[in-house]
Amino acid sequence: MMTSPTCPILVLGTTNAGKKRELSLLLEPYGISCRSLSDFSEAVEVAETGTTFAENAALKASQQARVLGQWVLGEDSGLVVDALGGAPGVFSARFSGPDSTDTTNNVLLLKQLENVPGPARTAHYACHAALADPTGTIRATSSGRCCGRITEAASGGGGFGYDPYFLIPEYHRTFGQLAPAVKAFISHRGRAIRRLLPAIVQLLHQDS
Ligand code: IMP
Repeated sequence: MMTSPTCPILVLGTTNAGKKRELSLLLEPYGISCRSLSDFSEAVEVAETGTTFAENAALKASQQARVLGQWVLGEDSGLVVDALGGAPGVFSARFSGPDSTDTTNNVLLLKQLENVPGPARTAHYACHAALADPTGTIRATSSGRCCGRITEAASGGGGFGYDPYFLIPEYHRTFGQLAPAVKAFISHRGRAIRRLLPAIVQLLHQDS
């Protein structure tokens, strides 16, 4: 891929296709050229050993940046369900075990909420982001959240993960039903990345 000297490169430290799509949509309009881990054969699998989203975001950013010698955006996010005491939380991706898929995770989520009535099915998505420089030093962090409710049936085929069941009451739609630009505007990820944008733009342009 050709890059202009005025278009700095940022590696998105995730292998999740849904996240990559959403992060690129948020960053590319600001002259940031996004790369994915699959563009780097030397990229490593970072163990998410943190107990918080913030710790995992920093781990993903700093470890990958040190290995690749690139600016890396680490992001950790998940679903926090009030009636489940905050689960699945940092375990959102592997909620139903080591071979979790979006489908098996959603089946388990619905099962655990089976006796929970509508008004008590409140939840939020949380996202923490961390920007590491090519030495692996964290230079900026941010977070965002988006509140909603877990529905009893899936609606919409957009987004990924728990989106078909995540209702935004003000919009009367799930994230699965909302257009990507609308999700980017109101989502946990959109909020966290917009808060980090001034630092990303300043630090990367300074360095390019
Ligand atoms: P991570 O890759 O360890 O940060 O795990 C993120 C997991 O949280 C995803 O695999 C999804 O299960 C869930 N998740 C995070 N953000 C979203 C979202 O925007 N929509 C749906 N699920 C999400």
